[in-house]
Amino acid sequence: NDLGPTITIGEILVEIMATETGNGFSPPLTFTGPYPSGAPAIFIDQCAKLTNNAGIIATVGKDAFGEINVNRLQQDGVDISAISVDTHLPTGSAFVRYRDDGERDFVFNIVASAAGKIVKNQNTDTLIAKAGHIHIMGTLLSIPGAWEMAEYAINVIKSRGGTLSFDPNIRKELITDDVFTQRLAYLLGKTDLLLPSGEEILTITESSNLTDAVKKTFAAGVIEIVLKQGKEGATSYHRNGKTVSGQAFQIKEIDPTGAGDCFGATYVSCRRLGMSLNESLTLANAAGARNVQFTGPMEGTSTLKELHKFIQNTPRKI
Ligand code: ATP
Ligand code: MG
Repeated sequence: NDLGPTITIGEILVEIMATETGNGFSPPLTFTGPYPSGAPAIFIDQCAKLTNNAGIIATVGKDAFGEINVNRLQQDGVDISAISVDTHLPTGSAFVRYRDDGERDFVFNIVASAAGKIVKNQNTDTLIAKAGHIHIMGTLLSIPGAWEMAEYAINVIKSRGGTLSFDPNIRKELITDDVFTQRLAYLLGKTDLLLPSGEEILTITESSNLTDAVKKTFAAGVIEIVLKQGKEGATSYHRNGKTVSGQAFQIKEIDPTGAGDCFGATYVSCRRLGMSLNESLTLANAAGARNVQFTGPMEGTSTLKELHKFIQNTPRKI
């Protein structure tokens, strides 16, 4: 639809990663980075590359890490007018080390960084007032102050006929208390498109099997669920009963971080551009697969041209 840009709210971070796999951060390790990161930032960067119509509400510090991010987003066509610069707090960061089994250890500096200070001002109001779609990441539920902004934006955008997508992005580090549960229920009631990965849909619906989880999600008001299944591709479940699966592409995974964000951004963007469900799924699977071939979470975001080329040259799983 042509209602207005896709927007998101949340953390902008740099990611600094250990060059060798293993557990934890001891003894002293060698790292590579900083790379532009933050799930909402990766998402919106991918949206902008596909539609040139996407903006983010976020805060960075007045430092080199903030500059790296803002410059990258701007260069890729993101509307950066609603990114605030905090003069006291540093830009958020995440140190990450991959374990041999593919799990990750993190040291986050988010809540006490600029990333944790989402502030409403004239620029954020202006972006929200013209937006046609809002994407919410589960990480937002743990950022103090961000929730009020999210509720406000969801109300404004949905009242004018806009839509909401939600990626639960539940991390094991996250604490699930009563407030968290209430907010989750509120969000599910407003969500048009849910983008869970793996077991997340079971966690957020407190279900023991997928059939129940899907049923509960539709009962909550969601219209479509697109389940991200990593190496297995993705499946779309529609409230009208239709189910469509998209096969994954066969690639060598270098760095899995950011796949889900690129996938979600591409799916949302393609649907908003009026593409069919099948075509959108194929392009989204391609965006996720292409992203994991690059070191650095935002290094593998794609243009439509790059996705078409990737699809042409990459075999799909049978
Ligand atoms: P993230 O680590 O960013 O949170 P996620 O768990 O949300 O990722 P995944 O299911 O891991 O999401 O990845 C999203 C999509 O990217 C998948 O549905 C798939 O299309 C593609 N993808 C991810 N990893 C691979 C892979 N190893 N091979 C092929 N495709 C992949
Ligand atoms: Mg995810």
